[in-house]
Amino acid sequence: MRGGLPELIDPLHLADAAVRLAGELPVARLARLKAMLASEDASVRVTARFGMDEQGRRVLELAATADLEMTCQRCMGSVAIPVAVDTTLELVPEEAAADTASPRYEPLFVGRDRMSLTEIVEDELLLQLPMIPRHEAGDSACLPASGATPGQEQDEMRENPFAILATLKDRQ
Ligand SMILES: [Zn+2]
Repeated sequence: MRGGLPELIDPLHLADAAVRLAGELPVARLARLKAMLASEDASVRVTARFGMDEQGRRVLELAATADLEMTCQRCMGSVAIPVAVDTTLELVPEEAAADTASPRYEPLFVGRDRMSLTEIVEDELLLQLPMIPRHEAGDSACLPASGATPGQEQDEMRENPFAILATLKDRQ
């Protein structure tokens, strides 16, 4: 199977069978992540290893890497953001009491229905995105948007509803 990543999985079953899955996910399939990006032309390399830890807890060791493009909040240009997920989730059956989960891991609650591996990966990637994406300080490609085009500041004033109100008042 090319890609090697099934869409729906039964995590507890995979942990019992010690299954390792690996493959690539196109960003275009990750709607929530895609909405945060400047370009959907990227893919995420995923390795998901299901199994037991030494205490017999069922876990998912998840690794995912991607080079994503976001909009720099200083220059409004595109900036490459490398993201890497490397985490171990404990697979906790939904019917188990939440306090049975080990504090060592982030719990992933598993119900009777199969789960979307894509969504699990997407949730973890979203946690890795910077709140305010920006070029590195001193990057010569990164010029503040307002300084680069003096006309833009005027446009912002024009679109500001309070500025328009002020103008109307002056006319009365
Ligand atoms: Zn920038």
